[in-house]
Order: sequence, then structure tokens, then C-alpha cells
Amino acid sequence: MREIRLHDTKTGALRPLRPRGRRVGIYACGPTVYGRIHIGNARPFVVFSLLRRFLRHEGLEPTLVVNITDINDKIYVAARAAGRPSAELAAEMTEAYRADTDGLGLGRPDAEPLASETIDGIVDLISALIERGHAYEAGGDVLFSVRSDPGYGGLSHRSVDDMDQGESAAHKRDPLDFALWKARKADEDTWWDSPWGPGRPGWHIECSAMAEEHLGVEFEIHGGGSDLVFPHHENEAAQTRAGRGAELAQIWMHNGMLQLGGEKMAKSVGNIAPLHEVLERWGRDAVVLAFCSAHYRQPMQFSDAVMEQATAGVERLREAGRRVSGDDSPADLEPLRDRFFEALADDFNTPRALGAVWEWVREANRRGSVGGSHLREMLSVLTLESLLEAGEAAPAEVVALARERVAARAARDFARADALRDEIATAGYVVRDTADGFELTPS
Ligand SMILES: [Zn+2]
Repeated sequence: MREIRLHDTKTGALRPLRPRGRRVGIYACGPTVYGRIHIGNARPFVVFSLLRRFLRHEGLEPTLVVNITDINDKIYVAARAAGRPSAELAAEMTEAYRADTDGLGLGRPDAEPLASETIDGIVDLISALIERGHAYEAGGDVLFSVRSDPGYGGLSHRSVDDMDQGESAAHKRDPLDFALWKARKADEDTWWDSPWGPGRPGWHIECSAMAEEHLGVEFEIHGGGSDLVFPHHENEAAQTRAGRGAELAQIWMHNGMLQLGGEKMAKSVGNIAPLHEVLERWGRDAVVLAFCSAHYRQPMQFSDAVMEQATAGVERLREAGRRVSGDDSPADLEPLRDRFFEALADDFNTPRALGAVWEWVREANRRGSVGGSHLREMLSVLTLESLLEAGEAAPAEVVALARERVAARAARDFARADALRDEIATAGYVVRDTADGFELTPS
């Protein structure tokens, strides 16, 4: 079996993946559901979904867990502004998140735990931390005592002076400490009873509890955006180490941020592109190809130019699909196929892997027509293999539905247009608006 190496933020080095038998646990931090997610939020979803696919190709049995943070200050604030119950807003945005990420066509994570459904596990871990002398109760809050964990700071490599938890200092014995449980405030309409009174969990504790529940401790890969290294992941690591006497994960894998107009895409900056709008405009194939064109650890620019280039790449693959046959590929092209998988095994280097794809396509084009088995194998790991089928025209009745949908949209009858989109989906096609009408691709 090929050795797979991944960059570990904690050691700052490439580390070999050591599966338990064939099993590989991956935990990636998911969204806080207070609004629709943007294309930047989609990057970890894409990276870790594709990583899971690659590991499956390598004969491993990965389990991907992506949590949904449905208890958070941001949710209370957004719900109050909208004059709605916070639990109702969180439930609605959870559904929107699922629908938006479904649009990526990458399947669902193996588990998607909600913070609101993990309260028992959270209370259990906090109780263990208090018992072991790593946490203390103060005024209905429970706080983690940072200086009680000698390993604290080992993930983010920060000095104590740079460690601002970004939380109010109320009840803290030490400004470094952070909240595990927060006493209910009068204007918070979602809360739970606990041994420390009514309240709700802090943000970091949910991930330690959920990861343990689904993957145990010392699982293989903990992932998320690089903006989560401190304080979120540092705190997750500390909680599990202090509460369970074991490390949470073996490899900490962080993706770079998406930038729009030279700045990190963030709701607070206001430079966001909602995922559903990006998918609607460019289609999921171009979005997935664009993400694969950058190494996951690097910051990535999101722009029309980047998406136009990805769209051209999608066209090239479709074109290749019209040329290659369904047969086995020639043996002398195997080194290119191997280079693709070696690149993925080397810190999941998707741009280098794509380089092998383009070279394979160039070589196949040069020869006229060759068997497409290699190309199909490579593209299936990137969930782009359906592009090779796209040369086949959609059936006449599906085309008729798509035409009717264009007319419905022109008449601003969006309910009818959406119903037609569903009908087209049931027939096995994805319809996308283009400058000169529509495009149908098999789903
Ligand atoms: Zn997390």
C-alpha cells in the first residue's frame, strides 16, 4: 500500500498516516448555522470530502465527521435581529447548509452531529475536567484552567502573551482561561439544565465531545480552516488531553483561507459570495475543479478569472470524454496515472495531481482516441468522472423540461422554474443557466 503523508500543523512537518487497520477517522469543524454559508466555508467541506474519496481509493475505510454548531452567540444575535426563536433559526439554517452543500455533489459526511444533540457528552467531559482539577465553576459558568495543561500552546505555537481567547473576563481566575459552560443570560432563549445550573456549552467543548463520541480519542486526522488553529483547535486539544489523558488527534490538517479582493472572505468584512449563488452561476464541476487547482494549504483567490479558468478546464475534460473510449488505457500511460495518485499521497497535492490529468489528456488527444480507464479512475477521485459521460445528449423530454424552465424564469415564475428543476433532477440531470440558454449534465 502507498504511504500517505500529510502536513501536521502541530509538528510543522509531513507525517505518515497510520490507519488503525484500515480505519481512518477524520473530524472536520463545520459551520455555525446563523446564515447561508459562503464559498469560503465550502473549502474544508470539499477538501475533506475529496480526501475521504482518495483514502477509499487506496483501500482504506475513512469515516468523515463534520459537526454543525447550532448553539452560539452569533445565532442568538441573528435570531434576535430577525425577531425569531434562536432554535428555529438554527434549524432553518442547518437545512439550508445541507441543501447548499448537497449542491457540491460530494455526498454527505458519514456523521453530522449537532451541538444541541450532544449536551450529555459535553456535560460528561466538563465533569471529568472539573474532577481532574482542570476546570472550575464560577457564577454558573465553568472555565477551563489553561495553565493546568502543560501542553497548552503546542498546536498553535504561540507564546502566552499572544493568547487572547476573545472572551469576556467575567469570573475568570486567569485571563487565559476559556468557557466550557456559560450560564444562561436573560435574553438567551435556548438553554439546558446542567449540574452548574441552566446554560449552554461554550464553542470549543462541543468538538471534543462529538469527535470522541464518533471517532474515539487519538483518531487519525483533525481538520478545519487555518483560522481555527487558535483558539478553537488549541482549546479542543487541551480539553481532551486534560479530560481524557490522551491526545485528541494524531494529525492536525488545516486548509488555507479563501480570499476575495485580496482579503479573507468573511461576513464581518462583507466580501462574501454565497455558495448557492456560486453553484448556480458556475456549476458544481467548475467549483470542485477550482478548489482542486489550488493546494489545500495555500490561501486561494476567488474571482471570475479563477472560475473562468476552471470552466475552461471542465470543457477540456468534456472534450476528452468525447474522444476516449470505454476501454482500458494503454499501459505506457500508466506512469501518468501513478503520478496522479502519488501527488495525492504527498500532502494531498491536488494541483500536481491535476497536472498529471492534463498531461494524460494531451497525450490521449495526440494519439486520436485511447481507452479512458485511467482518466475515469483519476477523475472519479475528484468526483468529476461524469464529465466523461457529458458528451451524450440528454433525452428530448429532459431538454423540453429545460426549455420550459427558461420560459418560466423569463416570466419570473420561479416556483414553476424550481419545480421543473426538480423534475429534471428526478430524470437524472442537472440543469444550469448559461449565457445562451441552459446546459444539461447527468447528475
Ligand atoms: Zn471544532
